[in-house]
Amino acid sequence: MFESLKNLLKHFTGSQESTSATQGNSTQEAKTTSSTADAGNVQYITLGQFNLGLGSIGPDNRKDIDQNVLNQMYRAIASGLFNVPVNNSVPEICVDGRTNKSGYRKSAPCAAGGTLSIVYGSDLGSNSLAADINEVQLTTQTINKLQEKGRQTGVHGDDHSDCGCGACSKAPTIYQHITERINDLASLTNQLGINITESEKESIVQQAKNRLSQADFFAENRASVVQAAQDTGADYEELVGQHNELGIAINTRTGTTVDRSAIRSKYGPQYDMFVVDAWTFGNAAKDINSTGNEADEQRIAKAITLQNVATASILGHGSLPIIPIA
Ligand SMILES: [Zn+2]
Ligand SMILES: [Zn+2]
Repeated sequence: MFESLKNLLKHFTGSQESTSATQGNSTQEAKTTSSTADAGNVQYITLGQFNLGLGSIGPDNRKDIDQNVLNQMYRAIASGLFNVPVNNSVPEICVDGRTNKSGYRKSAPCAAGGTLSIVYGSDLGSNSLAADINEVQLTTQTINKLQEKGRQTGVHGDDHSDCGCGACSKAPTIYQHITERINDLASLTNQLGINITESEKESIVQQAKNRLSQADFFAENRASVVQAAQDTGADYEELVGQHNELGIAINTRTGTTVDRSAIRSKYGPQYDMFVVDAWTFGNAAKDINSTGNEADEQRIAKAITLQNVATASILGHGSLPIIPIA
């Protein structure tokens, strides 16, 4: 599945590659070159094109951004300029574009909620009801399982909220969003090369509905979920300040993530990105699937993908572009 994402993203960025490879040999190539050169206007798909993006974070809501700098930044990110190596093979820290008070983030794979992406994704992708377990227990269980496999785990808060991780604080809304907008969300993943079948959609939506109607599944105190993760051994990052994300980087380069501090030092402190290390989702599904069944593993990987897209849609504005790094 993620090979197909990779191939598709390569196709997206293929024009740039062929330009540099064939520069100046014929009129046809010259044409390609010039269309890339005035690609101040390279068009990226946005959440809004899929009727997604109910939140406020995005370039249209910003007055502190230079459009040319922004386009330069998108192109540089898409080319992999800011990719750095990581050790972990599964999501560990949040997609959140912010840093700690020293302007620093760990170099570790990113998904919405950090390790909580695996908690919610494996829950949504599961085909067993397990109606006797709640969110906090599921969090503890998932982290224990990942630790048994030797994986580092992580969560975060921030310096001004009770629960400063949107993927956690809004988890019930994100489940609801999946039940209401599954087709829009799946159109977006489809555009990225991940095809979610009708029966997978049905199964994931049903699982979300089950949790929403299960009394006391979701913890009322949202910070208690992050706390439970920490109590089980997950690392904790305190991020600071407001959300300044200007796009969603979808990274499919195995073994890497995107260096947020490097982006800031090149373009300015107000230039941040959500970072989704999509190459890790299949690994996480493999680690967490308890049935050994390939179809179950695939569905979990797709549910992790949906949880990430749905989180972006709840927190992000329609103007947020998706920047593939192939
Ligand atoms: Zn978060
Ligand atoms: Zn905040």
